Amino acid sequence: MMTSPIRIAVIGGGLAGAIVANALRKIPHVDVQVYESAPEFSERGLGIGLSKLALQALEEIIPSGANLLRTDAGAVDIGASRIAIGSGPKAGELVCDIPGDEGLAMTRGPLLKALLSRVPSGILHAAKKLASIEQTGSGVNIAFEDGTAATFDAVVGADGIFSTVRKHVLLRDDDVSAEEQHGASPVGGWECRNLVPVAKAKAVLGEASFEVDREYCWAGEGGFMMHALVEDGTMVQCIVACVETDFPPDRKRIVTREVLEEVLAPSWFDGPIGKQMVEIMLDQENPIGYSIWEHKTTPTYSHGRVCLIGDAAHTTSPYQGAGGGLAIEDAFVLGNLLSSISSAGELEAAFKAFDAVRRPRCQAVIDTSRASGQLLSGQNPEVGVDADKMAKEMDVLFGHIDALDLQAHKQAALDELRKLLAH
Ligand SMILES: Cc1cc2nc3c(=O)[nH]c(=O)nc-3n(C[C@H](O)[C@H](O)[C@H](O)COP(=O)(O)OP(=O)(O)OC[C@H]3O[C@@H](n4cnc5c(N)ncnc54)[C@H](O)[C@@H]3O)c2cc1C
Repeated sequence: MMTSPIRIAVIGGGLAGAIVANALRKIPHVDVQVYESAPEFSERGLGIGLSKLALQALEEIIPSGANLLRTDAGAVDIGASRIAIGSGPKAGELVCDIPGDEGLAMTRGPLLKALLSRVPSGILHAAKKLASIEQTGSGVNIAFEDGTAATFDAVVGADGIFSTVRKHVLLRDDDVSAEEQHGASPVGGWECRNLVPVAKAKAVLGEASFEVDREYCWAGEGGFMMHALVEDGTMVQCIVACVETDFPPDRKRIVTREVLEEVLAPSWFDGPIGKQMVEIMLDQENPIGYSIWEHKTTPTYSHGRVCLIGDAAHTTSPYQGAGGGLAIEDAFVLGNLLSSISSAGELEAAFKAFDAVRRPRCQAVIDTSRASGQLLSGQNPEVGVDADKMAKEMDVLFGHIDALDLQAHKQAALDELRKLLAH
């Protein structure tokens, strides 16, 4: 029996911070506190899809979690989608139809709120921006930008793509080359979005695109395009994703007709969708294209009593819609590991075991997600914009994500922990 609880600070109150707070607060010998830099715990209004596997992991942490998302976060079933060729001589050809995958789609704000509703509000601390971390032999000292400080037995970094905790874990001793190697970097793609009323989308894209309720993805040379009904079928989210060659440091560019014509192959504009989608992108005030960044390599997710989860550990491109699901898997595995230790002295082993099983899994998703973006943009030299080859490659790239056996994965982490503690 432990006399005093293991005290853990979670840095960051986004999806990863919220879900790991749910996982850790259930452990009787853990006291968890969550620190978020923003003035309140909130998420921007974009949509997010959680796959069947992500929901399974969620249910392990919050029983009836999927139901909670339906009732409290307005989640709806992820519908079917169709991938077709959008440019070149094969424009219009079907690549594949993907049935709804028993996942759920929702907006991020209500998702975060629903997850946080299941933890005591007293453990949530807003307006606390982590400034520095220092590990001592027996704990971790953290200091915040507001001048306050605290000491914990361990720190879990859930502070997103440009994580301060990640810098502590990976970039010790001000090693500039490590920062270049392991900091976030461009994937090689940028995207522009516009949300338009359904009547307008039908008028520009044509009624045929809306006869069946499904998301469409058009693959082609230089980029790909997507359109999907959202907000109870009243609005259409349109996305043009382009190959990036210029890499602006602020990760933004102003999108003009010239910019789009330069990156998308000319045959997009004679195809079934290209010209229309470009019109929709340009029909908004200040269209901006945002670069997509990722963590290409990460040599470890843990250092001593500090551990990384979510985007702080493994930012992936959005092309497989999997980053949020990975954060839920992280919380599931970490919760089980920390349930299985019996003293703060075993935290380092638990974090090493977490790293051993989670890093290969998440790196594989980062790599297939990047490859999926390249595939849909006609950048895979063996596939080009050939519909049959693309369909086969899609199976390979997507197949592994939901094939993970969650219970076996958890057991592998627990076995690793046992091995480490035995030494
Ligand atoms: C366009 C796009 C579409 C996507 N679509 C999907 C999808 O459909 N499905 C899916 O599963 N995933 C999707 N993802 C990925 C998913 O959104 C992310 O993986 C997930 O939101 C990461 O959550 P996080 O909590 O790790 O990071 P974040 O959401 O970035 O949260 C980090 C939190 O830490 C706080 N913070 C930062 N620094 C500090 C500090 N120093 N001190 C204290 N707090 C700090 C921030 O304010 C923030 O609240 C998508 C990503 C993108 C970019």
